[in-house]
Amino acid sequence: MSRAKLQGLGIDLPLFPVTSVGSFPKPDFLLKARADYASNRIRRGALEKAERQATEFWIRKQEELGVDVLVDGEMYRGDMVGYFAENLDGFEEGGLVRSYGNRYYRKPIIADEIHWDEPITLEWWKYARGITSKPLKGMLTGPYTIMDWSFIEYYPDRRTACLALAKELRNEVEALINEGAKIIQIDDPAISARPEELPVAIEAMHIMTDGLRAYFISHICYGAFENIYPGMLDLPVDNFDLEMANSGLDMLELFKRHSYTKDISFGVVDVHSHLIEDEPVVEQRLRQALEILPKEAVWVDPDCGLKTRTVDEAIAKMQAVVNAAMALRAVTSDK
Ligand SMILES: [Zn+2]
Repeated sequence: MSRAKLQGLGIDLPLFPVTSVGSFPKPDFLLKARADYASNRIRRGALEKAERQATEFWIRKQEELGVDVLVDGEMYRGDMVGYFAENLDGFEEGGLVRSYGNRYYRKPIIADEIHWDEPITLEWWKYARGITSKPLKGMLTGPYTIMDWSFIEYYPDRRTACLALAKELRNEVEALINEGAKIIQIDDPAISARPEELPVAIEAMHIMTDGLRAYFISHICYGAFENIYPGMLDLPVDNFDLEMANSGLDMLELFKRHSYTKDISFGVVDVHSHLIEDEPVVEQRLRQALEILPKEAVWVDPDCGLKTRTVDEAIAKMQAVVNAAMALRAVTSDK
């Protein structure tokens, strides 16, 4: 359990800390600003102003809802890999490829040596930190996922590309920590896709986190978790943020067979559905987690980023998560 580690970092959290995976939907005024910017009707400065307003909107909402560990909401990002590819040297923009059903994205090309020049997310972290006193996660996409979702031209193989990315992205982690970030989330959803490459992902995560003083979370989704469990426990992070609700909590069965050894951010609401889960349903999912996992190890959040929901749906789902955590705190804390 990593409560002691968090306390050592000066972070005191209640039982079942509530957080979110990272992205929230962009409010209408930001969608309009992005469209206006794309068609040259407004300048970059006007777009960034809208991004700051939207960031503040979500910081205030999370505070009002009673979320314990906040995120900046990723108002400045398009795609989670594309954003980093655009901001690292060595990448070129690729053509449109299809992903997840009917969504298209531009698959970046690693065309040259990857190099981190300057902080990518830091200014947004600092902006958000400046408007809240709550703990705030530093967030970046992990090297394995950026490698997996890119075409590799420059490097001879996937491992070499992945490790090169890790070495450069470590600079981003260090920049966040130097500025005061104590909880860093490295999103690596692609890790579960190719079990044979898990050792590469582990090696890369060591490069990202070894010797650094922070509490590390890794978000992994698109589960085929049965293929990488329990091997994934060797990833050097403190907390796995996992999509549990969407898979009917199947992973709890795996935890019964081979005991789970880290903290967990346990997804209790489905992000793919418009439906807002009833409170008893969410509470029940959390209760099921607590049958298998020690209560000190459990954080609560939605399954994945909420960016594809409407603003109202995202708020309602976060409210359901907060309510479940509060209800369970009330009956658990005196035990
Ligand atoms: Zn996810």
